[in-house]
Amino acid sequence: MTQVFHRHCHSDLPFATRGEGAYIYDQSGKAYLDASGGAAVSCLGHNHAGVRAALHAQIDQLAYAHSSFFTTEVAENLASRLTDKAPGSLNHVYFVSGGSEAVESALKLARQYFVETGEPQRTRFIARRQSYHGNTLGALAVGGNAWRRAPFSPLLMPAEHIAPCYPYRDQQPDESLHDYGQRVANELEQRLLTVGPETVIAFIAEPVVGATAGALAPVEGYYKRIREICDRYGILLILDEVMCGMGRTGTLFAHEQDGIEADLVTIAKGLGAGYQPIGAMLASDRIYDAISEGSGFFQHGHTYMAHATAMAGSLAVMDAFEKDGVLARVAPMGEALDQRLRNRFGDHPHVGDIRGRGLFQALELVHNRDSKKPFDSRSKLDKRIKAEAMQLGLMCYPMAGTIDGQRGHHILLAPPFIINEEQLDELTDKLYQAVDKITREALKEYPD
Ligand code: PMP
Repeated sequence: MTQVFHRHCHSDLPFATRGEGAYIYDQSGKAYLDASGGAAVSCLGHNHAGVRAALHAQIDQLAYAHSSFFTTEVAENLASRLTDKAPGSLNHVYFVSGGSEAVESALKLARQYFVETGEPQRTRFIARRQSYHGNTLGALAVGGNAWRRAPFSPLLMPAEHIAPCYPYRDQQPDESLHDYGQRVANELEQRLLTVGPETVIAFIAEPVVGATAGALAPVEGYYKRIREICDRYGILLILDEVMCGMGRTGTLFAHEQDGIEADLVTIAKGLGAGYQPIGAMLASDRIYDAISEGSGFFQHGHTYMAHATAMAGSLAVMDAFEKDGVLARVAPMGEALDQRLRNRFGDHPHVGDIRGRGLFQALELVHNRDSKKPFDSRSKLDKRIKAEAMQLGLMCYPMAGTIDGQRGHHILLAPPFIINEEQLDELTDKLYQAVDKITREALKEYPD
């Protein structure tokens, strides 16, 4: 067992003892540049004065009041701040404690919507391969990550999976990016027609894919076509912005950049910036009104919903985004990071693709750049690069995805929005050392 269990684990992980800005320090005082925000969480860096002050003030006044007895000013204010900015009619917010809870809430609300509007035969979800929507059973069931699903598959509700929008892997040589995007979006329509569109509740996808495919942004027009298909067959569109939302791609909601409106949106990670566990589901007027006029009650709930301290922390995060101009840094700093990655890794023999949006970027690692063949899964590139980077004082987020049944590898970068140019240099230098060393070693071990 590794880091997951505490107390009786035999972990060799360092102890994190304090954080400051873009760095976390361990018990020996060694600094680690947080180039992944943990798992795309710490968007304001560590020890943020404004968030700390807001948390202290809230705890001094009232830490928690159960959401079935009270609402709080902080919860109402946070909900307004989010809905004012959200595209379309996402005017209703349901606060939970994390990403999986937000996704579970969205799946259940979508199902309840159809039960209450007289279409109880709708029982299926469609999602994409190489996707991750959380580790609870419902969220895992819609996720398309074969490895995570495998041990639990007999327990998972059935879900359908179509191709992700992954031009580096799937675009045909004679196909424009636009045509490619339309082709893969049309898989949704084909699948709906195969399973019977009247049996489907919703399509769920991450606007910019994070953990399972590495900062994979959709091609232009892809989501517009997805939205058209959802509308044509009366199914709901759930956008999972747990990782890519809250400013990570340069706009508060990632799908603002795709010019579409969703029925349900999930957010988490950057919403609390790591200061408190929090997640949220935003619902459109159509969904909310139907249930208000029906049973009047969403049949769901968790103990720590709309936790007052978490609400206060997230309001301070929104203040930092807006009043301190932190959100406005994401696009230019994202470009600065992209430039550095291209300069440094553009010719690296094992970096097949450099991609992303805003401060959400990734490198895809390949054994061979021409054939795009991934490294042998036994190379364990992800674990080794992570360990090597930690040795060098860098936190990055390497992952093994699945490409045609083989494990591919990518490294996700999601640094805090407060990162500066000098720290971007440090990030790129250390990342280069780790990637170059480990891919060279792996090539010797697995030459074919
Ligand atoms: N959805 C997405 C897109 C995620 O990236 C994650 C977490 N990596 C989740 C859902 C689940 O969130 P949590 O770990 O907070 O339950």
